[in-house]
Amino acid sequence: MRLEEVVVPPPAPHEVRIRQKAVGLNFIDIYCRTGLYPHPLPHGLGFEASGLVESVGAEVTHLRPGDRVAYGQSPIGAYADLRNVPADRVVRIPDGVSFEQAAALMLKGLTVQYLFRQTYRLQGNETILFHAAAGGVGLIACQWARALGVRLIGTASTPEKAALARRHGAWEVIDTSREDIVARVRELTEGRKVPVVYDGVGKSTWEISLDCLQPRGLMVSFGNASGPVEGVNLGVLAAKGSLYVTRPTLAAHVPTAQAMQAAADEVFDLVTSGKLDIVIGQRFALADAAKAHEALGSRGTTGATVLTLD
Ligand code: NDP
Repeated sequence: MRLEEVVVPPPAPHEVRIRQKAVGLNFIDIYCRTGLYPHPLPHGLGFEASGLVESVGAEVTHLRPGDRVAYGQSPIGAYADLRNVPADRVVRIPDGVSFEQAAALMLKGLTVQYLFRQTYRLQGNETILFHAAAGGVGLIACQWARALGVRLIGTASTPEKAALARRHGAWEVIDTSREDIVARVRELTEGRKVPVVYDGVGKSTWEISLDCLQPRGLMVSFGNASGPVEGVNLGVLAAKGSLYVTRPTLAAHVPTAQAMQAAADEVFDLVTSGKLDIVIGQRFALADAAKAHEALGSRGTTGATVLTLD
């Protein structure tokens, strides 16, 4: 990864030019850098950022120069101080949500929105399992679960991370450095296990997650922090109790500008009403993006990580 100066052309008719204030880092950026999710080289990195609209293309009618905006699903290349983005990927940020918060919630917060409100619509009395509860997506999930009245059992790899997730609303957190996940889930649910597991860890927790599910429970495998899940024999779903599995993406859940705005509004409302604190655990300069990747990829971060721009 290296920092390069490039000339940014005027925005195309359907684009806005954004003077960026903060960039959100996501584990998906690591998949793109390593080639797990391939893109033609050379390419920029990042999908999530916030800033001020500097100019708009001829066909853009809903945004104006000076608007405070954010996005979480742009074409790859958000690690930049100035860039053009398709206007239908951009939403206005309400007062009361800072640039840093917006840059940390457009991908991560909307992910929790669809996981909890669309993929498996939580009703408010469930006990669920959510891996990596102290991470960027994880700390939002803990607080959202609490707001819904859901008992979220988190996992985390150190006592400090476990305590952080608890402080942010997790009902219980399994410290994977010293506790067995399946045994502890059985204990906490008095043998019933859980109706849904949200698993962004992937390879190393696949079997464990299936073993935590009730018969006909739903495995939501939404990420690969430990590596991708491969070579699955579907018979395992029968053997473990007629389980369901989904491998969801954010893009499929917010396919239109309207759907994205509605999901973003739900997250913004939680922030402005004080129910959701967007925890920025680490800040790096744009020029230090490689150090930020190193920290995120080696389990050295908690909450969200942002690249700050002046
Ligand atoms: P996190 O901040 O949660 O960082 C990843 C965490 O995963 C680590 O902190 C670590 O927590 C845990 N982990 C477990 N095993 C490993 C490993 N071998 N290497 C590195 N980390 C590991 O990242 P994000 O919040 O950005 O993303 C969380 C997950 O959500 C990712 O898998 C990401 O791909 C996925 N995601 C999926 C989306 C979708 O729509 N499908 C959208 C957005 C995110 P600990 O040390 O406590 O175990």
